[in-house]
Amino acid sequence: MILVIAEHRDGKLNRATLETVAAAQTASAGAGGPIKIAVLGAGVDAVAAEIAAADVAEVIVVDDAALKDYTADGHVLALQALIDAEKPDRVFLPHTYQTRDFAPALAARLKRPLVTDCVSVKDGSYVRPMFQGKLQADIAVEGPHLATFQIGAYRADAMKAGGSPAAVRKASIAIDASKIRQRPEAPFKEAKQAVDLSQAERIVSVGRGIKSQEHLQLAQQLAQAMGAEIAASRPICDAGWLPMDRQIGSSGQTVAPRLYVALGISGAIQHLVGMKGARTIVAINKDPEAPIFEIADYGIAGDLFEVVPAMIAELSK
Ligand SMILES: Cc1cc2nc3c(=O)[nH]c(=O)nc-3n(C[C@H](O)[C@H](O)[C@H](O)COP(=O)(O)OP(=O)(O)OC[C@H]3O[C@@H](n4cnc5c(N)ncnc54)[C@H](O)[C@@H]3O)c2cc1C
Repeated sequence: MILVIAEHRDGKLNRATLETVAAAQTASAGAGGPIKIAVLGAGVDAVAAEIAAADVAEVIVVDDAALKDYTADGHVLALQALIDAEKPDRVFLPHTYQTRDFAPALAARLKRPLVTDCVSVKDGSYVRPMFQGKLQADIAVEGPHLATFQIGAYRADAMKAGGSPAAVRKASIAIDASKIRQRPEAPFKEAKQAVDLSQAERIVSVGRGIKSQEHLQLAQQLAQAMGAEIAASRPICDAGWLPMDRQIGSSGQTVAPRLYVALGISGAIQHLVGMKGARTIVAINKDPEAPIFEIADYGIAGDLFEVVPAMIAELSK
C-alpha cells in the first residue's frame, strides 16, 4: 500500500499534492497495491472531500486541535502513529519546504529510509538528480520506505479521478499536545507577501540580458499582460534587482508552471534544474547558440528589447 501525505494551507490543497498522487498512481500501476491519502489538520473535512475525488482506495483524516497550525513535531507524532497503524510499504510526500521540515525526523522515528527529491518512480526504484542535476541516480530501496517527489516531476492534471469519491475515514489517533515543542506564531509580514512560485501557472523570468534594473519594468509589463509572476536568474537577485524569493534554480525555487518565458537567460545548469519541469518553455535570447534553446519548446533568437514590446503590444490587443 502507498500512503500519500497531502499538504494544504488555508483550506486549499497545493498542486504538489496532486502531483504526488499522480506519482503514486504510476507506481501502483506497476507494482500493484492500493493508494491511501492522509490529510492532517483541524477541521479539514472540505480538504479531505476534495482529494477524495482522486482514484484512490481511501482518504484518512487525522483531525486534532493540536494540528491546527503546522508544526514539525505535530506532523511527526501524527504520522508516526498513523503509519504504525496502517503499515504502508511506501509513504509518498511532495518535496515542499514543509516536507523538508519534518520528513527526515519522521523517517528517523520510523527507522525507514527516505529518498528525497525524486523525479520518477519505476519498478520500485526511484530516479533523483545528483550533483546539481548533472547526474541522474537510480535508487533501489529494500523494505518499507518514504519518498519525496520534486515539484513538477509528475503533472497534477495527470492525476486520475475516481468513478465515484473515495471513502473518507477518520483515524482514531490522539496527539499529546504537550509533546509539541514548536509554538507557531503569525506568519512574518514578508512571508505574507512572499510569492510561492512553485504554485504559479505562468512565469516571466529575467536574466542578465535585461542589462539594468530600470529595464525590469519591461519584463514586469509583459508579466502583467500575461497574468504571470515575475522571476529571475541568480545574478538578478544577487544584484538586489529582485528579492531572493524570485530566484529560480538550484539555489532558488523549483517551479513547474504551464508557461515559462525566459528573457535573456543563457540556460546554465543551475538555472535549468529549477525550471525544466515547466510544461511549455519560451526562450528569447540574442545568442542562437545559448543552451536555453536546447530545452525550449519555442525559441526566439532575437533582441529582447525588440521582441518583448512587440509581445506586449500583441497581448494587449
Ligand atoms: C553553486 C551555484 C549555484 C547557482 N544557483 C543558481 C540558481 O539557483 N539560479 C540561477 O539562475 N543561477 C544559479 N547559478 C549561476 C549560474 O551558473 C549562471 O551563472 C546564471 O544562471 C546565469 O544567469 P543568466 O542566464 O541571467 O546570465 P548570463 O549567463 O550572463 O546570460 C545572459 C544571456 O542574455 C543574453 N542576452 C544578452 N543581451 C540580450 C538581449 N538584448 N536580448 C536577448 N538576450 C540577450 C545573452 O546571450 C546570454 O545568453 C549558480 C551557480 C553556482 C556556482
